[in-house]
Amino acid sequence: MHFRSTRGDNTVTFDEAVIQGIADDGGLYLPDEMPEFSVEDFSDAASISEVAEILLQPFFESSVLSSSLGEIVAETFSFPVPVTVLPVKQGSAGLLELFHGPTAAFKDVGAGFLAACISRLEGDLDHPLTILVATSGDTGGAVAAAFNDRPGMRVVVLYPDGRVSDRQAHQLTCWGENVLSLAVQGSFDECQAMAKAALTDTALAGKYRFSSANSINIGRLLPQCIYYADASLRHYRNSGRKPGFVVPTGNLGNAVACCMARMFGLPIGEIVLATNANRTISDYLADGKWLPRDSIQTHASAMDVGNPSNMERLRFLFGEADELNRVVSAVSVGDAEIEDEIRRNFAEFGLVTCPHTATATFAWRQMSAEQRRASDWLLVATAHPAKFESTVEPIIGQAVPLPDAMQRILSRDRRFVEIEANLQSLAAALDARFSE
Ligand SMILES: *Cc1c(COP(=O)(O)O)cnc(C)c1O
Repeated sequence: MHFRSTRGDNTVTFDEAVIQGIADDGGLYLPDEMPEFSVEDFSDAASISEVAEILLQPFFESSVLSSSLGEIVAETFSFPVPVTVLPVKQGSAGLLELFHGPTAAFKDVGAGFLAACISRLEGDLDHPLTILVATSGDTGGAVAAAFNDRPGMRVVVLYPDGRVSDRQAHQLTCWGENVLSLAVQGSFDECQAMAKAALTDTALAGKYRFSSANSINIGRLLPQCIYYADASLRHYRNSGRKPGFVVPTGNLGNAVACCMARMFGLPIGEIVLATNANRTISDYLADGKWLPRDSIQTHASAMDVGNPSNMERLRFLFGEADELNRVVSAVSVGDAEIEDEIRRNFAEFGLVTCPHTATATFAWRQMSAEQRRASDWLLVATAHPAKFESTVEPIIGQAVPLPDAMQRILSRDRRFVEIEANLQSLAAALDARFSE
């Protein structure tokens, strides 16, 4: 199997798609054919890693890594992905917990898998590959954690100084020799502009072998299909019913992965996208007009996206709004509703949810009784609430205990360099750390 851009017909191997990230024509890579599985194909798979090996095998046919798939999968799923059943009175609902990884958000899965692949493909002790990542908070920590101490690889994280939470700042700055954390005196947009400028600066890019690890890389998307496959298979085996999923959605990577898993034949029912007050997706599904806009800040900050890039994949796979409405539905959730929802989840279930996860429980709770009973629902929990303690703790009136993995990260020493928001400052910081 090969991979093809959403904007052209040229095909590339898995390895090329992962290394390039974005296609030359500006499009996003997708498999050029969709494998079809049945539930029986997974009957011998007892763990999420075994599900992953079966599901990913066709995509690795064109890869030099095919014989390493088992190792790559084991590195990616070094933490559990459990479902917690909720004590609801009618119907059935559970929480799919994607936050047990090193930085306590689902991005650890995609970042871990990508790091396992890229370091095998491109790691070079004499001339390391340098992953450049501009981050507004969550992504940079997951990428740094995933590449930390991998031989032949470096990571440079650019984040807007003073505009990420204290715990996020810690996760961005507590890594080993091969990670350079840069506290940029500017905005996230400026960080992104600097990363772009560096990637296209021939001299600098030649010296440091830049690459990016952003969320449009197919190497981050594919592994996200796995937890939908695993959770739906387990649910189906136990109950004989296909679960529906409610997915907190920003850039649409996690949601596209869920739709792809269903395309591959996994037992998945309805898919509902829960967004925050950024309404680009819900407006499009309602009136068919695709109107990207500036993002607005919300409690669910990792979903503050006004121009979700993975919509290009969704439209390519399923068509425009009228057809897409048959594939997914969307619910937009405001900040006041997120606050109420965090309070209600705690009062009714004793469950502490992060603001992103609260959009999913809201979307489920506002369904009609009929819709709630028509299917069993798995609500996707994308981050641990301790990561967003400044929002969550005042609402529930108590402290959220830190998970062990986060505790370990927060006990590491921080190390970072403050730089001005321009390319010269970035180049100087790179030379100071990495040039011999
Ligand atoms: C990134 C992120 C999201 C949004 O995921 P997309 O794939 O961009 O739609 C939701 N919740 C959390 C906690 C995130 O970090």
